[in-house]
Amino acid sequence: KGRCFRMSYTLLVNKSHPLTSSYVPPCLAEAHIPFDTSAHDEKTLMEKTAAKAAAKLFHQAASDNITLMGVSGYRSYKRQESLYRNALARSSSAVAPPGTSEHQTGLALDISCASLNFELEEAFAYTKEGKWLKTNAPLYGFILRYPRRKEHITQYPWEPWHIRFVGKTLSLYLSLTGLTLEEYHQMLSNPR
Ligand code: ZN
Repeated sequence: KGRCFRMSYTLLVNKSHPLTSSYVPPCLAEAHIPFDTSAHDEKTLMEKTAAKAAAKLFHQAASDNITLMGVSGYRSYKRQESLYRNALARSSSAVAPPGTSEHQTGLALDISCASLNFELEEAFAYTKEGKWLKTNAPLYGFILRYPRRKEHITQYPWEPWHIRFVGKTLSLYLSLTGLTLEEYHQMLSNPR
């Protein structure tokens, strides 16, 4: 049994900051939340601390009569590569190139709900589940990673279903300031 090392929850992964093909998060664990997939799928894994935070988030949602459904957590470089190849074959640009998806960190989670048939759509933002998530995710250490009108900064389209664990201090700071993870890292490298 290997020891679990703590990883950096503020890690920036995007098209300009890709992960290597060999990157695997140090501590993957089953996320104990409902998933719209068969059991023992790689998608149901998350980084250990992020998985615990997701379970707390889903538990609070259930107490508020909000039923969230996990769609996709961890995604290996290999699986991202195969999804990307399939998308290219369909001439679709909706899938991130391998190494540039933060699902490879185990810190990201896609969420949907029954009224959307568990699809990942912008319409999620207008559902009661999507609204609840936007308000409550930061209280559990997650940010909505790809906001609307920040597409030029994140280089990703608006994805109201994609949350990313960054730890509670940073999630609260980013949600209060409206800054993206890219802008936070920019601030760190250019302190005033
Ligand atoms: Zn996602």
